[in-house]
Amino acid sequence: TTLQVLTDNFRNIVTDPYDGLHESSRIEVYPLIEQMQSVFLGQKEWMGMLPRKCNTAISATPQSGFHFFGNDIFFALAQGEGQWGFNLFLGGKNSEASQDADIFVPPQRVVVMFEAVSRAFMKYGLRGSRAKTRLFHLLSEIGMERFREKIAEFYPHETERGGVLRLQKAPKQQFAKLRDGRYGYCHRSRFGRITHRELEQLVAYARQNALEIRLGVDQNIYLLGLQKPQVPFDEPTGAAHITACAGSRYCALSLWNIKEETAFLPLARLEKEQITVGFSGCLKGCGRHHHEDIGLVGLRTNLFGPVTKAARLFLGTEYGTTQKAARLIFHVVPLEQLSDLIEVIIDEYKASGEEDFESFSKNHLNRYSTGFLMLWFLAKLYLRQNITFEGKEEQQLYRELLQQPDFPRHQESNEYETAVRVMMHEMWDTEA
Ligand code: SF4
Repeated sequence: TTLQVLTDNFRNIVTDPYDGLHESSRIEVYPLIEQMQSVFLGQKEWMGMLPRKCNTAISATPQSGFHFFGNDIFFALAQGEGQWGFNLFLGGKNSEASQDADIFVPPQRVVVMFEAVSRAFMKYGLRGSRAKTRLFHLLSEIGMERFREKIAEFYPHETERGGVLRLQKAPKQQFAKLRDGRYGYCHRSRFGRITHRELEQLVAYARQNALEIRLGVDQNIYLLGLQKPQVPFDEPTGAAHITACAGSRYCALSLWNIKEETAFLPLARLEKEQITVGFSGCLKGCGRHHHEDIGLVGLRTNLFGPVTKAARLFLGTEYGTTQKAARLIFHVVPLEQLSDLIEVIIDEYKASGEEDFESFSKNHLNRYSTGFLMLWFLAKLYLRQNITFEGKEEQQLYRELLQQPDFPRHQESNEYETAVRVMMHEMWDTEA
């Protein structure tokens, strides 16, 4: 049942589970996916022959809460001269957002463009260390302009300049209105797991009501075609907003049983505030920690006493109209302290008045240095004072922290690092 899996192959081409049916859908892309797939599937010349793996996505559903900028190739809904089509984004991966290639692709040329990009990658992609052979690395070496010239060798049409990107962000909701007036339903799995019984119930319900079943890249199951926005199922809290990797039960590289330990997160509040979390068991990033509002990577540490579970924490993702992968802010946060830290980050977001967490990342978090963000959120925990950014510059906020009587100032240094170290150990050390 499997062909061309793993190693240096194309991965499954993905799209939005509401493709073609959501009330905002502009183009049904599934037929294009099948045609793109036929370019390589079962074709010997492509079997394991790419410089490195290649993830592809295409979406023409503007308002559905999915984003695909972490893919090597992404066709994103756009408007060109008088028609709908796609802007081409290239070079995404788990730790990088794809870049705008400034090329508009009409629907009838998507497959040809996909093949042209793939052939350019096959011919010119780097072939050295496998850690540096993704499309991202080729683009880093030769730049987008030269790669566009490489694409042109295999693309038999004039390319159009990029159109107006038409993807809009929408909160993830349990029910969505479809074009024909019916509804779609997102059934939250338990971070990618579902019981045998639950699955049987879903399938039976879908059969009884003539519903279509689709699997989302967010690890949830979608039922499409409901007459009313209601279903007879119970669901776990917060699961729609967390993408969790396989974890130690299924993957030898994980130091955490990620799917169980998501229970340490403030799930109800994350759901209420519509904040997404990507949780990976190692830096390979299958939980997409660089591409969600808050990113986490599990690890173990003895920094605060006996060896304990801990996490790296990432912030700053922009995935709407601009693309930016998250930055590593905290190298190590003990598991038991993680929820409190996330709570103060959410408090800061709420105080900003921004309409969603991504806007908070773009307009606030990404104005400040990594060292300062670490210092600031630790200080909020440590001082237990209601201090907020209030749009102030980093240096001003730091001066104000220095005036707080309990803030750890040190004669020998006024750098962030000393205060960070003192606050972390005073709060998180488990051995006196
Ligand atoms: S992120 Fe790491 S631990 Fe998690 S599934 Fe991927 S490889 Fe395994």
